[in-house]
Amino acid sequence: MGKTGVEVTRRSFLKTAAGAAATAGIAGTGLAIGRGTGEAAALPVPKKWDKQADVVIIGTGYTGLVAALVAREQKLSVLVLDKMDVVGGNSVIAGGGANAADPVRQKRQGIEDSPDLHFKHTFEGGDMINDPEKVRYMVDHALEDCVNYLERLGVVWPEKVVRGYGSLYERTHYVGSYKDKAGRSWRFGAANIRALMDKMDEIGQPVLMGHEVTGIIREKPLEGRVLGVEVKAGGKKLYFRAKRGVILASGGFGANIEWVVKHDRRLAHTDTSNHKGATGECIKFAEDLGADTLHMDYIQAIPYEVKAPFKGMFFEIDGEEIRKVSASMPYRIFVNKDGKRFVDEGQRRDVIKFAGCAQPLFEPLPMAKADTIEELEEKIRLPKGSLVEAVRKYNAACEAKKDEEFSKNPTILVPLKTGPFTAICKAIKRHHTMGGLLVKGTTGEVIDRWGREIPGLYAAGEVTGGTHGANRLGHNGTVDCMVFGQLCARTVAKVKPL
Ligand SMILES: Cc1cc2nc3c(=O)[nH]c(=O)nc-3n(C[C@H](O)[C@H](O)[C@H](O)COP(=O)(O)OP(=O)(O)OC[C@H]3O[C@@H](n4cnc5c(N)ncnc54)[C@H](O)[C@@H]3O)c2cc1C
Repeated sequence: MGKTGVEVTRRSFLKTAAGAAATAGIAGTGLAIGRGTGEAAALPVPKKWDKQADVVIIGTGYTGLVAALVAREQKLSVLVLDKMDVVGGNSVIAGGGANAADPVRQKRQGIEDSPDLHFKHTFEGGDMINDPEKVRYMVDHALEDCVNYLERLGVVWPEKVVRGYGSLYERTHYVGSYKDKAGRSWRFGAANIRALMDKMDEIGQPVLMGHEVTGIIREKPLEGRVLGVEVKAGGKKLYFRAKRGVILASGGFGANIEWVVKHDRRLAHTDTSNHKGATGECIKFAEDLGADTLHMDYIQAIPYEVKAPFKGMFFEIDGEEIRKVSASMPYRIFVNKDGKRFVDEGQRRDVIKFAGCAQPLFEPLPMAKADTIEELEEKIRLPKGSLVEAVRKYNAACEAKKDEEFSKNPTILVPLKTGPFTAICKAIKRHHTMGGLLVKGTTGEVIDRWGREIPGLYAAGEVTGGTHGANRLGHNGTVDCMVFGQLCARTVAKVKPL
């Protein structure tokens, strides 16, 4: 323990041969975004198509896989493509937690909740710039289309919900686990992806890995129906026709430093938690067809274990009492290099991002473990007595159920009394891009810069904007993908085939 779930998952993922392949790298797409570059970069309609299906889905994260499964339930033929060699994008390295008002679990814990309260928290947590229609649709379908859907595929959620990091309320299902047919156990986002992929295998739906979409084809540059996609695979250029529609499930752009810097210069010197393929080029391809975007400047960055050449910003301290309650970050304490707490650890992610970035930087140290706080303080080279004093004050706050210093919510005040204690050196890393394509919240249709739906083009998950507003509540990401991936598939099923 002592590590957040997401980090454990990411680390173990990167250890695998598959993970190594995923880090092989995808060329950045540069800055030639359609808007502001004048003429749209139109792709000609090919004379011959290499493959065709009712729906072409780009991406094998939660969004793409669930869209494929639901499209197949609707009796559609499906092509699923991914440019990487490994399935799962950011989803497979994610924590995989999911927020949903859950009458059964929450009732047992005496927690009052409802989709309305989930809406309020998501909307207020996003500074009310979120698309209310989209948020409404998400919270109303969160339990059924995310938590219960994955449960039906065999994902086992814990009996208790917790306040997942950044979720700001006790409605997080964290974390799911899954046992595959060979008896192997999976946790975190990898559990969700394995369960989705096992279902894909069961219905005989392949995914085409190493297939990079390099453009979207439309009847005319800014008019008419989207017809398919241009693909690069095995050194060849191929054309895949979509008889009913193309679903973009291609994720965010957190790994595209050029785009990040363009939208939020403050993150220029940060590392990312994202997989190498999170470069966002499908946003550009859609913009070439006139698609609009929103909230591109809102880039979430959160604490992660840090290693040189990046600098440390603070230490995350954990103890036995906390580990017994939750593996989630808000229950721990953060201290800077002076041994002082500097923020309510249960706060919104953007608050923690700015507070973390404001701390003096230092050379990172490896994770430390000690039986006493004094020993831990020495191991991580904090000023003598500083951590002891910070922990003394914090334990007093836990006792009094009142954090005078930072007003941390009393429900997550758990003392640090029993060792072993651990300290992990952390820094803020680019984590999630809240902006993306503008879509209609009740259909998933991509909207152009003139407010019109682009016929045949749909998008869901991190490639879209509007769900999270200025600040994504932790664990609304999985739900966003699972809910809107399904919605896109249902919308496409209603389209008359070409
Ligand atoms: C480390 C980490 C931990 C997280 N933990 C949580 C959590 O616990 N709870 C939560 O709610 N959210 C979490 N998130 C956020 C959430 O998991 C992601 O937003 C979500 O997984 C994105 O899913 P997606 O389907 O939209 O995209 P992805 O899962 O990223 O999938 C997109 C896929 O599209 C492919 N692709 C992209 N461009 C192309 C192209 N041109 N051609 C072909 N393929 C392409 C990519 O290779 C990728 O495989 C986490 C994110 C990270 C990075």
